[in-house]
Amino acid sequence: MSSHGKNALVTGASRGIGALLALRLAADGFRTVVNYAGNAAAAQDVVNRIAQAGGEAIAAQADVADSGAVEAMFDAADKAFGGIDVVVNNAGIMKLAPIAQFSDQDFGQLVAINLNGTFNVCREAAKRVRDGGRIINVSSSVIGMRLPSYGPYIATKAAVEGLTQVLAQEMRGRGVTVNAVAPGPVATDLFLEGKTQELIDRMAKMNPLERLGQPEDIARVVAFLAGSESGWINGQIVRANGGMC
Ligand code: NDP
Repeated sequence: MSSHGKNALVTGASRGIGALLALRLAADGFRTVVNYAGNAAAAQDVVNRIAQAGGEAIAAQADVADSGAVEAMFDAADKAFGGIDVVVNNAGIMKLAPIAQFSDQDFGQLVAINLNGTFNVCREAAKRVRDGGRIINVSSSVIGMRLPSYGPYIATKAAVEGLTQVLAQEMRGRGVTVNAVAPGPVATDLFLEGKTQELIDRMAKMNPLERLGQPEDIARVVAFLAGSESGWINGQIVRANGGMC
């Protein structure tokens, strides 16, 4: 693993998709900031795995819903690595219930983390990512599916896509691209928790490849968007979902 002098920050990188994103970007030579909310041991495990493979990483606790904490995380990244080139806005949660039954508490938490959190990190990234950098947000392919119970979650991810497209325009003149990846169902805690095996199997077959996505499937797309080969892709939403529609 050799460093090319560029640095990446991945939010929600202690588990699930984010952990694989951090491992992959580190394997591609980025010094990597592994953000987490509460699971310090899991984040440290990701940092250790990166170090064992010859890479460089630090763990950084910050609730993305807290704008002050996000600012402090970018300060810590600057201090450790001297600047950030790639920001992956991956942290997110999912709460499901029909709109008529959705509680204020769940709605508030969903919006705070998925929308305010993505906004807080986008704002800081827009100010701090070095020229030629990359900002990559994480949406969801369920946006197109109109699935009952997904209303507020879909609303937050539709907002993420809106922020992505406008920020791409606002970064004019800096050589910074802003894109989003919109995964279909991926086998992580967020997707699997609370679902019956029958429902999991049914959702796995919604795409013509007839399997769930794996975090590695998403890591490959993010690695491409983070790298030098993707420079002409800007303001786009990449739906990485095995062909689900
Ligand atoms: P997981 O639940 O497996 O992991 C969530 C990660 O986000 C953890 O690292 C967690 O940290 C972190 N996190 C949660 N809340 C916060 C917060 N407030 N501040 C900082 N970090 C936080 O989720 P996935 O890996 O499945 O999801 C990652 C992203 O992908 C999300 O944005 C999700 O909406 C999106 N997505 C997922 C799909 C799927 O099927 N899995 C499909 C489409 C999109 P900690 O460990 O400390 O709690």
